[in-house]
Amino acid sequence: MSADQLRDTQADLKKQYDTLCAAGLKLDLTRGKPGPDQLDLAEPLLSLPGAGNHVSPDGADCRNYGGLTGLPALREIFGELFGTGPDRIIAQDNASLRIMHDVTVFALLNGTPDSVRPWSQEHAHLGSPVKFLCPVPGYDRHFSITEHYGIEMINVPMTPHGPDPDVCAELVASDPAIKGMWVVPTYSNPSGYTVTEEVARRLAAMPAAAPDFRIYWDNAYAVHTLVEREPEVLPVLDYAAEAGNPNRFYVFGSTSKITFAGAGVAFLGSSKENLDWYARFQSVATIGPDKLNQLRHLLFLKDADGVRAHMARHRELIAPKFKLVLDILQERLGDSKIADWTEPEGGYFISFDVIDGTAKRTIALAEDAGIALTAAGSTFPYKNDPDDRNIRLAPTFPSLDELATAMDGVATCALLAATEKLLDRD
Ligand code: PMP
Repeated sequence: MSADQLRDTQADLKKQYDTLCAAGLKLDLTRGKPGPDQLDLAEPLLSLPGAGNHVSPDGADCRNYGGLTGLPALREIFGELFGTGPDRIIAQDNASLRIMHDVTVFALLNGTPDSVRPWSQEHAHLGSPVKFLCPVPGYDRHFSITEHYGIEMINVPMTPHGPDPDVCAELVASDPAIKGMWVVPTYSNPSGYTVTEEVARRLAAMPAAAPDFRIYWDNAYAVHTLVEREPEVLPVLDYAAEAGNPNRFYVFGSTSKITFAGAGVAFLGSSKENLDWYARFQSVATIGPDKLNQLRHLLFLKDADGVRAHMARHRELIAPKFKLVLDILQERLGDSKIADWTEPEGGYFISFDVIDGTAKRTIALAEDAGIALTAAGSTFPYKNDPDDRNIRLAPTFPSLDELATAMDGVATCALLAATEKLLDRD
C-alpha cells in the first residue's frame, strides 16, 4: 500500500476500533483454562470413589497415610500414555508445575545424583550462574521458576520439529553452567509444535559439559489432540538410556486438562536413580499424596483407552473453538500479511506473530477495548520478546460467541497497530 492508502485504511480501522471500544466488552483470552463444559465432562469424579470404596486394586486403604509414589494402577495408565512404562513414573498431588519447581529446588539445595555440588554453589566454581536453555516462544510459568531462583535463561529457537537441536547441542557441549532445558514436547505452549523422534533422540544423546544436565520434558498436552490422529509417544527415557545418559530426562504431566484443572493428579517420570533421589526429599515434605483423589481418577478413567475416549469428548468441545479462531484470522488478516499464526493439531494455544514491534501495542489496544490477552512478552524469558512480535491466544475458555467477538477485535487491533507502525516507518 502507498502511504495514502495506508492512511485511508487506518481511518477505517480507527472507526472499527471506536465501535469496538463503545461495545463495553469484558472478554478474557489470557490463560489456557478448560471451559466449564469441559469441566462438566469430569463431574462424575465428584461422587467417586463413594462411601465404602476406598481400597485400591493393590490393596492399599487410600484413606490412610503412605504410598509416596502413588497408586500402581494409575501409574500403569499414565506410564503407557507418557511412554515411561509403569516402573519409571510416580503419581503425586495436583500440579506438575509443583514437581518442576521442587526438582529445581532440590537440585539447587542438594545437587542431583550426577552433580559434583549443589547447583546453588556452582556460581563460585563456574564464575557464572547456573543456566537453562529456553525454547522460545515458550511457557511463562516455566520461565518464572527459573527466573525466581536466579537461573539465567538463554533463548533457543523452537521450530515445528522441536527445539533447534544444532543450537542446543553446541551450547550444552560448551558451557558447563547449562544445567537444564525446558521443553514442551507435544503441542507446545504456545506454538502447538510437536518434537519429532529425530530431535528427541538428538537431545537425549547430545554430549553435555555439565554431567548433571537435565531436560524438563513437560508433556502437559500428551493426549490433548484436536484431530483424530494421536501424537506418537516418544520413549525418551529409553532414548537417553541407550545414549548413555539415563538420568537426563524428567518427564512431567498431569490430568489438569483431562479432568479438573487444579484438582487432578500430577506425574513425574524418570530413571530409577532420579525417582529415588526425588523421593528422598519428597518424603521429608509429605507422608504421601492424596490417594483418594488418585483412586477417584482410576475409577473414572479406568485405563489408557478410557483417557483417550475422554479426550475425544474434550476435542468435540474445543476443536470448533480453534477452527473459529483460525477462520477469523484468515478472513481478517490472510490478505494483509501483517501476521502469521500456527495451526495446531492439539494443545491449548495458538501462537500469533504480528509485525515486529507491534505486539505490545496490539495487546494494549485490545485491553483498552475490554479484551484481555496474555501480557506482552510473556512467552519469552524475562518477559522480553526481543522482536515484540509474539502473542499467545488461548481459545478454550470463552464461549464460541465471546471468542468470535474477541478475535474479530484482536484482528482489528493488530491491523491498526500495523498501520501505525508502517506509517511511522514511512
Ligand atoms: N505445563 C504447561 C506447558 C502448561 O501449559 C500448563 C498449564 N497451562 C502446565 C504445565 C500446568 O500444569 P499443572 O496444572 O499440572 O501444574
